[in-house]
Amino acid sequence: MDLGVLSVVSIFQENPLRNPKIAIIGGGISGLAAAVHLLEHGYRNVTLYEARHEAGGRTRSYLDSTTGDILDNGQHLMMGCYHATLEYLRAIGSSNLVHRTPLAIAFHEPGKSPARFEIHRRLAPSINLLAGLWSSNLLSRSEKIAAIRLGLAIKNNRVNASGSCKEFFEARKQPSKLIRKLWAPIVLAAINSPLELASAEVFVNIFREIFLTGHEGSDLLFPSVGLSELLIDPAIRMLQAHGICVRFSAPVREIKYEGDSLRVSGNNQVEVYDSVIFCGQSDDPLPESISSNLPRVEYSPIVNAYFWLDRMVLNSPIHAFLGTTLQWAFPKPTAYASHRLALTVSAASELTALTNEKIRDMLWSDLQSAVSAARTAKLLHFQIIREKRATPMLTPQVQQHRPGASTSIPGLFLAGDIVQNGLSATIEGAIRNGVAAAGLVLRSTRAVEMREIERH
Ligand SMILES: Cc1cc2nc3c(=O)[nH]c(=O)nc-3n(C[C@H](O)[C@H](O)[C@H](O)COP(=O)(O)OP(=O)(O)OC[C@H]3O[C@@H](n4cnc5c(N)ncnc54)[C@H](O)[C@@H]3O)c2cc1C
Repeated sequence: MDLGVLSVVSIFQENPLRNPKIAIIGGGISGLAAAVHLLEHGYRNVTLYEARHEAGGRTRSYLDSTTGDILDNGQHLMMGCYHATLEYLRAIGSSNLVHRTPLAIAFHEPGKSPARFEIHRRLAPSINLLAGLWSSNLLSRSEKIAAIRLGLAIKNNRVNASGSCKEFFEARKQPSKLIRKLWAPIVLAAINSPLELASAEVFVNIFREIFLTGHEGSDLLFPSVGLSELLIDPAIRMLQAHGICVRFSAPVREIKYEGDSLRVSGNNQVEVYDSVIFCGQSDDPLPESISSNLPRVEYSPIVNAYFWLDRMVLNSPIHAFLGTTLQWAFPKPTAYASHRLALTVSAASELTALTNEKIRDMLWSDLQSAVSAARTAKLLHFQIIREKRATPMLTPQVQQHRPGASTSIPGLFLAGDIVQNGLSATIEGAIRNGVAAAGLVLRSTRAVEMREIERH
């Protein structure tokens, strides 16, 4: 063997930096994606801290004891353009638990016949979009032309998206009925903010990913199991099986940079790490020099309801509602009743203060007024889930100031859905950010290794 190679090998074996000590703070999907990425690259000296007694954060499921159904903490829509999510599912062995179907949305409005918007993937993505818009009975001819013009302008990078979505659609001369019927439901679902607050830049980026990049970006990905069984539990099992330390009920109170290392304090213990990835929603544990430079972010709520009914009232996978408080409905499997619906209301600040019964009555009355089959149905059981801090409100100002993954402190990186990636706060965005932060840890530890090798 070449002696140069031999000396490099021995340095690798002796060098403790080959096995850097890494902390990941936050066992949501972003932290798990970071841990899985590190594990895939052979890094096992990793500790994952999760404040709660279980992982998953805002992407999790639980058992409803009355019905025996597994309920998600809210309907999470995943799409064909969720490439990092699909990669993560492959890595944790869950990809067989999702199936994809082409986008097909049924639109319901009180007093009107249902309309449809579908994307058939046969041709290039932009042609599929044009064909989908043109063939939809949701829009009038002039609305279709306006929507197609906007789609082409986005495709050809001929848009200025610096303000809010409302300003953006108005500046692009989108008819108000088109905004109400198509753009507003997409913005609410994808950015969880009303048009006047949501960043147009984020809308344009998501629009490109869903409709203009790749043939299958607009497909819907439906899991056959709950979110925890799909995304969380297999990751935890895999990490633990490979020796990664996962600490539950382990809130980190403080991260301090001292003498070239990072000190992580929580539960009356202080541990020293070479690298830390912080994936929490609140920036309290971060050093002042970092937290004081982060934008002040408000969070937008989502209210979800589950309704168990004595008969089927909606059969295709995804339904949008116009002119009602109810925004979306998704039929779900259940053994308890003939039919279960997951109902969602995004940007739901007006609903969160209401009682469960009041929310139930509003959504039930909306469903019955827009779907004739629901008028004769009986509501057997319901559940209301309020997620008050569902997603960060990505206003144009916040979008401009979202932090990057690197910080001014060596070894300290940020992940989670707030970190800048141009997208809205989603499973996909959180996973991309977790993987990106883990990539930066790999790069920084390799750089230290190289310096060590050169020194020897
Ligand atoms: C109701 C609802 C509907 C949604 N719908 C969709 C959808 O349709 N499609 C989609 O893609 N996305 C959707 N999302 C968004 C998606 O759930 C989030 O973007 C994603 O879960 C964020 O993951 P995260 O890991 O960044 O953050 P989180 O899930 O918030 O994870 C952070 C974790 O860190 C832990 N933590 C925080 N601070 C500390 C600390 N100091 N020490 C230790 N642990 C700490 C928390 O307990 C938490 O477990 C929805 C979210 C909600 C709530």
